[in-house]
This record gives sequence, C-alpha cells and structure tokens, in this order.
Amino acid sequence: MKILSLSSGSKGNAYIVEHEGDALLIDCGIGPRIFKQRIAPFFPSAIRFHGVLITHNHSDHTSGLQAFLKSNPEVPVYANELTAESTGFETGVAPSAFVCFENGQDFCAGPFRVEAFSLPHDASDPVGFLVEADEIYLHATDFGVPVKAAGTRLSKADVATVEFNHETELLYASGRHQSLIRRISGPRGHLSNNDAASFIKEYASEKLKRVALAHLSQDCNAPHLALSAAQQALSSVSLGHIPVKVFSQNEALQL
Ligand SMILES: [Zn+2]
Ligand SMILES: [Zn+2]
Repeated sequence: MKILSLSSGSKGNAYIVEHEGDALLIDCGIGPRIFKQRIAPFFPSAIRFHGVLITHNHSDHTSGLQAFLKSNPEVPVYANELTAESTGFETGVAPSAFVCFENGQDFCAGPFRVEAFSLPHDASDPVGFLVEADEIYLHATDFGVPVKAAGTRLSKADVATVEFNHETELLYASGRHQSLIRRISGPRGHLSNNDAASFIKEYASEKLKRVALAHLSQDCNAPHLALSAAQQALSSVSLGHIPVKVFSQNEALQL
C-alpha cells in the first residue's frame, strides 16, 4: 500500500491511498492544477479512483472537490450524512455525488475496506478512517484530543498518518487572538505535538511499519519539532526503528 500526501496543512489537504493501481482519495482541499502537478511524478500511469473519502466539511479538506469531480464524474464521494449535507451546501457538489456511510460501520470502496470513526473537532460530524487492502492504514487528522476510538485503530494499523498540528508554546506566543488559540488548543481543535506524541506512545503497536505526521501548522510548528516528539515517543516504547515522515503543505510526499 502506498500513501501519498499531495498537500497537508491548514491551506489544503489531499491524500491518496493506492494499491496495485487502485486508489482512494482522502479529502480534496487543493485545486486541479496542483493536484495534477503533484501526483504526476508518483503515478506516471493512470490510477483508478474508487472513491473520495471526506473526513469533515472544513474547506481545507473540501475546496477542490467539485473540480476533482468534474474530471472524475464517476467517482463516488463517501461521507457521513451530516458531512455530505454540509459539504454539498458549501461546495456546490450535488447530493447525488455522495454515498453516505454510518460512523463505525465497515463499507467497501472498490477493493478497499473502509471504516470511519468519530473524531472530536469543530465540524459537522468529523471522522478518521481505517482503510484496509494488503495493509491496514489509519488516517487521523483534525482532532482536539487523542481519543480512544482513534487509539484502538492505531493499534491495528500497519501504516498511519497522525496529526501533529502545533507546538503549544509556539501557539501561545503566536500573537493570535485568545479565542482562536482556545479553539485550536481546545478539545474540538487540533492535536499538539505533545498530545500526538502521547497518543502514539500509548497506542502504537509492534504491527506499525511506518508513520507520517500531518497537518502541521506553518506558524506554530516546525517539522523538526514534530519529528523529534514522534521519534521520542516511539523510542520510549521500543519502536524507535519505525520510519517517520513529515508531510508538507507545499510538496507531495510518499509514505
Ligand atoms: Zn484541516
Ligand atoms: Zn478541520
């Protein structure tokens, strides 16, 4: 299984899960030009998209959805009912494009088995995903606290993408309005490096083969801070050998 981040962060998110030419897109918060540019070097021949999985209705995850569907009109958009409703309303994507799932229930999208689980975040009904093909992939970004529902899925995963949003000190020193700082650091905001590291420490299992850190704040985090937090957490539970990648806003990276 190949995981490709085309863009990761508050200015746009799009991730591809690929196995033997079959693929799912997770979120589509980038425009078609960047999408094509960034995917090309990794997949020189076409891949078959079997669906777009939507985590939640924030525009950094959905702004490019309509343009993607224009070039891929047959591809279904998988979302829970509340997310489908709000995403359709905000992006203009027709209700008929959506296939709704229930959080906590498995469904198939092409050859992939998918399960969505609830995450605490200030959107309609935000979720993370567990995607299974030859390996099991956990995708968890945009959540304020490291909830057990995500943790039990991390324990099953061979490959994982986890949000490492901000370094708490940098967030408090950022000069942002107090209410925004409270929102980001709150229980329905974004995961700090510290919280994400504890999450990995508590739930990563020996099954885990590789990890990516995602949705880093450009102002309130730095790749080396997130990376060292994750590596320390893994080392402390004797998993220091696991390779860690830091996904980027501005370039495509493969996990
Ligand atoms: Zn986001
Ligand atoms: Zn969000």
